[in-house]
Amino acid sequence: MVAIVTGGSRGIGKAIVQELLKINYSVIVTARNKSIDIGELEKTYQDKVFFVPCDISSEEDRKNLVSFAEKTFGKIDLLVNNAGVAPRERKDILEITPEDFDFLTDINLKGTFFVTQELTPLLIKNENSRIVNISSMSAYTASVNRGEYCISKAGISMITKLFAARLAEYGVSVIEIRPGIIETDMTSKVKEKYEKLIAEGITPINRMGKPYDVAKCVVSVAQGNFDFCTGTVIDCDGGFNVRRL
Ligand code: NAP
Repeated sequence: MVAIVTGGSRGIGKAIVQELLKINYSVIVTARNKSIDIGELEKTYQDKVFFVPCDISSEEDRKNLVSFAEKTFGKIDLLVNNAGVAPRERKDILEITPEDFDFLTDINLKGTFFVTQELTPLLIKNENSRIVNISSMSAYTASVNRGEYCISKAGISMITKLFAARLAEYGVSVIEIRPGIIETDMTSKVKEKYEKLIAEGITPINRMGKPYDVAKCVVSVAQGNFDFCTGTVIDCDGGFNVRRL
């Protein structure tokens, strides 16, 4: 079985790569830069881990990724759309510029859409393959100081529905995982703020999530446990999604 994990060099993506290797997947890992950890995994799991540099907002890089996957494996069984960025600077929605908006949505939204579209021919070579989109609780939670991020994640929820509807006839199921507050480089700058909110009870399960928590959900999909589900959302968020009174 072959997977592509975008943004697999660090954080949640790296944990997904590690867990997929444990269940015997071969994994094509993409990110803009190769991390030391992925270099180590390539050595440990020879012929099982392949790093392909790819900025998902670049059409040329995406074409190179598709061509590598086609030449090396001829098909893929699982696409994990995990690559994503936070705003370079958190700004109020009344202050963000078109450039801020484009930077973020070109990667998180447009990049995710076209990676999926362009890899579809390799996914439908199987009778049964899977796409997992890593969105966020920001898909439905309004943070006015990073609105462009929220918009990009809400868009990924629609990408999930669109590809679920379009690719079901080819046996491709599409699952969205919405992580909550997960301890990675992305949240390191705001860790104290989040720890305080968690201590005050913002999530029923009162700890930050670990990348492994999200990776376990992906593995469950990869093992076929959700094969009668498509367009389905898994909230991996310590219960953040629960409205309480
Ligand atoms: P992270 O630690 O910052 O890792 C992001 C990964 O994406 C890295 O491998 C990074 O590598 C890659 N990446 C960034 N820009 C890219 C681009 N243009 N093209 C290809 N790869 C790119 O972030 P994370 O916390 O693990 O987040 C992973 C995903 O989960 C993101 O989509 C994020 O929005 C989502 N998420 C995270 C949290 C959280 O609390 N951490 C919560 C909800 C959702 P390079 O920089 O080398 O490209």
